[in-house]
Order: sequence, then C-alpha cells, then structure tokens
Amino acid sequence: MSHALTEISGLWAEASKILRHKICATTFEQWFANIVPVRLDNDRIILGVSDDFFADWLRNNYEDILASAIQEAGGKAYTIDFESGHIAKAPAANCAIPAKEEPRTSPRYTETVQTPVPAQKRIHNGINPRHTFENFVVGEENRYAHAAAMTAAGTPGAYNPLYIYGGTGLGKTHLLQAVANETLNRNPNAQIEYVTCEEFLNCYVDSLQQRKHSEFRNRFRTADVLLVDDVHQLANKAQLQEEFFNTFNTLFHKNSQIILTSDKQPSEIAGLEKRLVTRFESGVAVEITAPSFETRLAILKMKQESHLVKFGDDILNFIASNVRSSIRILEGALIRLVAYSSVTRDRAVTLKTAEQLLKKLFEQENMTRKITVETIQKRVAEHFSIHVHDIIGKKRPKNIAEPRMIAMYLTRKMTDKSFPEIGLEFGGRNHATVIHAVKEIEDSMNTDPAFKQTVSALQRQIQAIS
Ligand code: ADP
Ligand code: MG
Repeated sequence: MSHALTEISGLWAEASKILRHKICATTFEQWFANIVPVRLDNDRIILGVSDDFFADWLRNNYEDILASAIQEAGGKAYTIDFESGHIAKAPAANCAIPAKEEPRTSPRYTETVQTPVPAQKRIHNGINPRHTFENFVVGEENRYAHAAAMTAAGTPGAYNPLYIYGGTGLGKTHLLQAVANETLNRNPNAQIEYVTCEEFLNCYVDSLQQRKHSEFRNRFRTADVLLVDDVHQLANKAQLQEEFFNTFNTLFHKNSQIILTSDKQPSEIAGLEKRLVTRFESGVAVEITAPSFETRLAILKMKQESHLVKFGDDILNFIASNVRSSIRILEGALIRLVAYSSVTRDRAVTLKTAEQLLKKLFEQENMTRKITVETIQKRVAEHFSIHVHDIIGKKRPKNIAEPRMIAMYLTRKMTDKSFPEIGLEFGGRNHATVIHAVKEIEDSMNTDPAFKQTVSALQRQIQAIS
C-alpha cells in the first residue's frame, strides 16, 4: 500500500471512530459505513460514495459533523469532496481480470429501509445483480426492448447484434445487465463481458501501453456474450472503432451474442465509420422512449416494495407527475423520501413533507428539462427546411401541414400543455384540430416505420437540446 493510501485510510479510520461516538449506530451504518476513502489532496479529502443522491444527502445533513470528525482526526480542517460511483470494497475498475468476490459481512439495515446504495454486491465484474428482468417494469415504451433482450438471453445469437437505444436514464443498462444476469442463471460458466464503451477504451489503451494487447484481444474475442454500454462514445474515435470492428466481426462470425446500447441510432453517431453503422444496423434495433405516467407510477410502486416502506398514493402520484424524463431521477426522488423516513423514523411522510424534500430536485429537473413549444417548433421547422412562421401560420400545403402536425404531436407528448393551449401556440387553432393532428401522427407512426423513425429521432434531438 502506498504511503498516500495509508495516510487517507488511517485518517478515515480515525474519523470513523470519532463519528461512531457522535452519532447513533444505525445512522452510522446507514450513511457512513459504506464511504470509501479515496485520496487526500493537500487540504482536500475525497470520499467515495455510491451516487450523487447519497453525496447530496451527506452534504445537506451531515457535512458539519463529518467535517469536525475529520478535523479532529487529522488535526486540521479539510474541504470534503464526494466522488460518486464507489461501492465499498468492490473492485474499483472493470479492467482487471475478474477476481473472486471477498466474503463480506452484509451491512445491518434498519427495519424500514434497505439502503440507498444501489448495489451492495457484485457477482460479476461491473454487473449489478439487481438489474434483472423481474425487477424491470414493462410498459408501452420499453416493451420491444424488453422482449428483444429476453430473446437474446434465451436464444443467444437470434438477434445479432441487438442494438438498444434511447435517452438517458430509461433502462438501457438495466436491460443489458438483465441479459447478463439471466445468462449467468442459465449457465454459470458462460463467459460474459460487460463493459461501457469508455471502459473498453481504457482497457484498450492500457493494453497498448503495457504491451498486453493479446490479453485484451483474448478477453473480448473469446466472450460468449459481449455487452457494450453506450457505444455512442465511439463517436470520432477512429482507432478505437477499428479495434471494435475487429472484435465485433470475430464474435459475430462465431455467433456469440452481441448487445449494444446507445443514446442514438447508429446513423446518428457522429463520425461512426460506415462499416460499423452497417454492422450495427444489421441485427435488431429497438428503441426505449420516455415512460408514460402509468409506467412511472408502476415503477415507483415496485421500487418502494424493495425499500420496505409504503408511501401514500398521493405521494407516488406527486413524484410520477413531476419526473417525466428519466427513471433514474424518478428513483432518486423515491430514495430521498426513503432516506428521510428512515433517518427521522417518520413512517407516515405527508405530501407536504414530500413536496418540501423534493422541491429542489424537481426544480432542477424542470430547469434542465424544460421543453418549450418554441424549441419543438424550431427543431421541426429546421428538420423540414421550412420557417417557424409557416408552422404557426395558416397555409395548408402538405409540405407544411405535416411538419405542423408533427410539431403539435410532439408538443402534446413532451410538454404539459392541454389541447386548447397547443391550439393557441399554433396560431390560435381550435383544440379539435390539435386532437385530429395528434391522432393522425399516431396512426401514421403505427403503419409507417420510416415515419415513426423520423418522429422519434426528432423527439430525441429535442430532448437532447432542452
Ligand atoms: P440508462 O442506461 O438508459 O441511462 P439505466 O438502465 O441506468 O438507464 O436506468 C436508470 C435507473 O432506472 C436504474 O436504476 C434502473 O434500474 C431503473 N430503471 C430503468 N428502467 C426501469 C424499468 N422499466 N423498471 C424498473 N427500473 C427501471
Ligand atoms: Mg446506461
């Protein structure tokens, strides 16, 4: 162990001891026992936690107590920084050859809460054992992706490659890892390689630097199942694309299952070589779109069961109606309430309390995700090379009428606006006209896959720029 590492470990061990005396055992176990000391940087101490919500909670509720314990332990004041993505005692990176998991005593939980840390256990490098098909709520928006992933797990090679795409926080990684978990259930000896595209890059660069390229090749080119998360990160990385292409071909010819996720369709990834676009498009591509209110509510109901708490329907409705864009944020909101109820031992959280606790989170969500009618009109007009005033105006030729209907449809889908409000935003049209437009677009999407692709691509682009 390096000197620096000993120093931070020692400091954190001492601070932990002090903390144990200052706060009750349950709170300690819940909030401090899983903190990982990462490094010391002069007067800065970097502590590793599982995710941003955990960090936020510590900052908002325990910053003073934490700072004073560290000061007492170290004899001087430190600035505390949190780093997300750490799980206590789990291997730090995914580049290493998978090691056997060390036996670990499971943390003690209170009776009301499991823990806000998502993964306590890693059975396979990088794969969260909770990302299973059973834990995945199926709705209209992810039905095809779910079915295709099940097929990939049950009949490997049937859909090759399987390409799952959609916005962030919508369950792509969950599905990808569900395939891994299900494959391992069926065949514990299956060689599964799960990496994010970024890890693939890091491992590749490491292998070149350490002259271990054949090891790298062996690892990826002998896999039974290769799961690569976030392949949009291949964008504009020519050398990595070359390596990826070769890996892909080797596995493809052996009929090993390949599954890729991305936030875009292959053809939309900037600077992705044509031959990779073709490969990615040669199997089955499925999209996950933003969840409807019903799906969001169903997810909240399922998640709260795993946390062993029960919130009123008014609270779940409140969360589901405020978070539209990401299931990760939806989950984060719930975890915040679970954590609050566990720390304060308040078993009957009221809607008023929930509103207060989640106010900031929802404000952020609304701010970053405020999709306006203007943004939609502008993007749709650009796409069809017409003017925004054409979309709002009275003219009716087909080259204008169709984009206008698409813009109305997207406004209905992506904002809170009612039919009459949308009518007003589109040059004072009647609400019946808007209803008709939405219906027309839905019908065309159901019958014309190319049209559906155009509309979904526009939706994703608007989501991304908002
Ligand atoms: P992405 O990879 O698309 O950004 P993730 O797969 O990481 O999204 O999902 C974000 C969070 O939401 C994860 O905790 C995941 O378990 C959860 N989640 C996503 N979709 C569902 C679903 N349909 N049912 C249950 N949980 C879901
Ligand atoms: Mg992901």
